[in-house]
Amino acid sequence: GVMLDADFFRRWMTGMAAAVDREADRLTELDSAIGDADHGANLRRGFAAVVKALEEEPSGTPGSLLVLAGRQLISTVGGASGPLYGTLLRRAGKALGDAAEVAPVQLAEALRVGVAAVAQLGGAKAGDKTMLDALEPAVEALAESLGESFAAAADAADQGALATVPMRARKGRAGYLGERSVGHQDPGAASAALLVATLAAARGA
Ligand code: ADP
Ligand code: MG
Ligand code: MG
Repeated sequence: GVMLDADFFRRWMTGMAAAVDREADRLTELDSAIGDADHGANLRRGFAAVVKALEEEPSGTPGSLLVLAGRQLISTVGGASGPLYGTLLRRAGKALGDAAEVAPVQLAEALRVGVAAVAQLGGAKAGDKTMLDALEPAVEALAESLGESFAAAADAADQGALATVPMRARKGRAGYLGERSVGHQDPGAASAALLVATLAAARGA
């Protein structure tokens, strides 16, 4: 099968930076309804730093590039989403080891490890109206197809993000709103859908 090389991971991160740039206003609007209106700005700053760091690192394996990207998010994003996305990428990167190319099934497994680390760090689970509501179904869909169907993962993430609208938030800032969080899409679930969509685009879906 097709192997995923360092360039694939660069395309993913560059694509995510562009998507976040394009969608920053929408992400901030979602966060203004149930948070503090900074999610777009947070991720824009974070993924711009990721792209810059990757440009300054011309060598690097899939694993080391994801670890580097995760570290940038942790150190440049002040909000909750920085450490959470940073942990996802860092832990997935670690799981990939130092191979120059990885099989899709290895990436599927690494992302599952990363998402589990996000759940552990944030103490959230599916249904709590967070990024996990998009990430968990996406990594499940990817694992089910043995890493082959990035498009199915992107669909699952989109549906997962939309499914947060009627949920009541239990974690993060939106958790303080309780019942008043119902009726709004979770901003982190929306950005997680972008992360999976750009993964699929990097693969050529
Ligand atoms: P902040 O809330 O600190 O301003 P952001 O606005 O950048 O940070 O990110 C908010 C998003 O982070 C939420 O929409 C949610 O998806 C995610 N999030 C917040 N807390 C948690 C948590 N404990 N577990 C998982 N995701 C969380
Ligand atoms: Mg916020
Ligand atoms: Mg904030």
